Amino acid sequence: MTSITLTFDNGPDPDVTPRVLETLRRHQIQSTFFVLGEKMRDRRSVAEHAHAEGHWIGNHTYNHIVPLGMSVERGIAAGEIQRTEELIGDLAHPHRFFRPFGGGGLLDRRLLNREALKHLRDNAYTCVLWNVVPEDWARPETWVERALDMSFAQTHALVVLHDLPTGAMRDLDRFISLAKDRGATFRQDFPKSCIPIERGELTQSVQSIETYVSEDAYSTS
Ligand SMILES: [Zn+2]
Repeated sequence: MTSITLTFDNGPDPDVTPRVLETLRRHQIQSTFFVLGEKMRDRRSVAEHAHAEGHWIGNHTYNHIVPLGMSVERGIAAGEIQRTEELIGDLAHPHRFFRPFGGGGLLDRRLLNREALKHLRDNAYTCVLWNVVPEDWARPETWVERALDMSFAQTHALVVLHDLPTGAMRDLDRFISLAKDRGATFRQDFPKSCIPIERGELTQSVQSIETYVSEDAYSTS
């Protein structure tokens, strides 16, 4: 039996996000939107709408240009997280969800640098990774079958989608309907295996966390 948690990254988008919300409402599914600080500046009302409907709002960096693990200039990584959290303000979940990004959805050392890791720990963030990336941005016409195959390979799938104007979200309803037909249930919470940091505490071994952090030497200090 598979359960599926949906997440939507890189928004909010003034056109796509409301359509996603409408689809989720129709299916009575609650999800999380990992927003960009840059887009929150003038589109906060879209995120407010999502929050009011019971969706969780998480932080996905300010401008999503350089993965934090590739950021070498001091202060940039912490600033990307902090500025965005300020713009999210009272829409933030009490567990302060943060999702890093790398390249093509890979879970590797591009996700975080040491400064980002320290900022997440010091400020009691919960780091939310993923286990299903169907690349909806790259295959807006064909992501659904891929997402179904990948989701049903998991007991609890944490799926990354994007509320971006690629056209992919036109098929969100089809994905949900087919997944339900195959017996999946939808839930809002995340699988433990995708949460390496919970409210600032490491939930996995240092060796495991290290695989997400650039720089060879990792210290718990
Ligand atoms: Zn992203």
